Amino acid sequence: MGNFFAELERAFESNAGQTALMLDDRDDWTYRDLVYHINRAACELRTFGVQPGDRVFVQVQKSAENLALYLACLKLGLVYVPLNTAYTEAELDYFVSDAEPVLYVGDQARTDVACAPLRTANARQLLVFGPGDAREKVPQSTETQPRESSDLAAILYTSGTTGRSKGAMLSHGNLSSNARSLSDEWGWQGSDVLLNALPIFHVHGLFIASHCALLNGTPMIFMEKFEPSQVMTRLPDATVMMGVPTFYTRLLDRQDLNQDSVAHMRVFICGSAPLTEQTFAEWEQRTGHRILERYGMSETIINTSNPLEGERVAGTVGYALPGQQVRVADEVGVPVPSGEVGMIEVAGPNVFQGYWRMPEKTAEELREDGFFITGDLGVQDAGGRLSIVGRSKDLVISGGYNVYPKEVEGVLDEMPEVAESAVIGVTHRDFGEAVVAVVVASGAEVTLQDIEQALGSRLARFKQPKQVVNVPELPRNTMGKVQKNKLRELYSNLFDD
Ligand code: AMP
Repeated sequence: MGNFFAELERAFESNAGQTALMLDDRDDWTYRDLVYHINRAACELRTFGVQPGDRVFVQVQKSAENLALYLACLKLGLVYVPLNTAYTEAELDYFVSDAEPVLYVGDQARTDVACAPLRTANARQLLVFGPGDAREKVPQSTETQPRESSDLAAILYTSGTTGRSKGAMLSHGNLSSNARSLSDEWGWQGSDVLLNALPIFHVHGLFIASHCALLNGTPMIFMEKFEPSQVMTRLPDATVMMGVPTFYTRLLDRQDLNQDSVAHMRVFICGSAPLTEQTFAEWEQRTGHRILERYGMSETIINTSNPLEGERVAGTVGYALPGQQVRVADEVGVPVPSGEVGMIEVAGPNVFQGYWRMPEKTAEELREDGFFITGDLGVQDAGGRLSIVGRSKDLVISGGYNVYPKEVEGVLDEMPEVAESAVIGVTHRDFGEAVVAVVVASGAEVTLQDIEQALGSRLARFKQPKQVVNVPELPRNTMGKVQKNKLRELYSNLFDD
């Protein structure tokens, strides 16, 4: 059957006595316990009369119960729509009118905020039940609903840095094929213990990380949030960690991070935002591990990965997963020669079913030959190894020349005076756009003169920043991505007379 849950259920049954979730400050759950909680959530959902294909909004804190709730939605053939708890009522209003959920599941703390849009949409509400909740009753086992592999399993609203957020529709087949590929690619073993401190409203923590463990019936250290001191206490028990680059930089700030603290680790995996070469090198020096960087997105889960066996190269995201394709192409989809920058396009069973109720947007971004235009700019070497040079909308065109922010940021980050940097384009009378360096200084403020001295012999004149802005820290979203749209907005008038 095409329901991805049926595949997971087989792993749960054969590993019923195995630990599934190792939890903060309470007893671990076995796979038997997890199945119990899935059935409990499924029973609860069914009392609302939900039908396969119905959308269910879930805006909750991360917890074991909420992972069970996600799995219950899969089991019942519902379309799971996770929402960041940080979304405001106005944002929720848009999502409600767009996806028309039949049910909204929220934490107690969120329901007041959520009420207004839901009332107008006639969606029903369920408050999430936590450990030891009074609703406790022995759940009846529920049937796993038959689904086609093309049927929708989830809609993920993209972080949407510009314009309206789009709902990426992922099918059971998308989830299943990518979970299987990753499990093979990263050599998942029965003895693996995954440390998952990622949020589960996003593709990274929910699908990429959790599915590998669940599909193999192996334990997950399921942390409600990333808190470096707590992660340090759990690291020695883990064999795999998946994280965003800020997890790695924040752990590097800890004096107690060393080879002993990662004694059982098999592989550290990183993605969702660029990992700097400096972090890669420092991590190797401190722990002896070369981080495996991979590249993915809400619309396609994972596209490429550095190899498990073979060379992991800092600043690159590796090769297309088996059964998938990656090309770097011009504006009409024709591959550019290796070594040249172009748009990254991907194809394969991982590619989503389009944007929810946006056929025009879908048609703009999905080519007739099935390739999805990612919006990321990249370059491939002759062997197919991919590097990302930035988002196409972050590309700076100064005096008619293309400037790829990542190249400039790489050189800036090597300056001892610079702790980190973000390069943006700002409207300029002469150049159209001028390159601006937003920097976090490691000591005293960084001046334009410092930058000119350091970059003068390394980058062509047109790539060099025309202005520098010192900030105490760069704005980032929960997945660690620098919010360049915010920076562009903030400094849009920098060159006004
Ligand atoms: P999201 O849909 O929120 O997961 O965002 C996907 C975007 O994150 C991609 O289109 C890339 O721009 C970025 N991204 C993901 N992984 C990496 C990576 N390893 N290096 C650089 N950017 C990445």
